[in-house]
Amino acid sequence: MIEPANEQTLAEQAPSRYECRSCGYVYEPNKGDSNRNIAAGTPFEELPSDWRCPVCGAKKPQFQDIGASGAPSGFQENLSYGFGVNRLTPGQKNVLIFGALLLGVIFFISLYGLR
Ligand SMILES: [Zn+2]
Repeated sequence: MIEPANEQTLAEQAPSRYECRSCGYVYEPNKGDSNRNIAAGTPFEELPSDWRCPVCGAKKPQFQDIGASGAPSGFQENLSYGFGVNRLTPGQKNVLIFGALLLGVIFFISLYGLR
């Protein structure tokens, strides 16, 4: 189980990627932009204000924060509902239900066995 504190730390360590809303180009901070002499590891926030999308030329305000790689936005919110039941895949839920039924059957059989 991932603690919210760890999640926060991860988000702080990895700089956010930004997606161009015009063409879908994604600026990867850990790759930089070699066409514009942007060094690898430069966060989007520190790009020069005249930096443009290398694909379509859109300005910085056209870009949308899509979060760091490996930490999709909304990840934490979705999982905190329902006491973790939402973490289960449908298959796992079936295993849970049939497992409970099977335990009930075994319980009844063992009752008969005691007689
Ligand atoms: Zn673009």
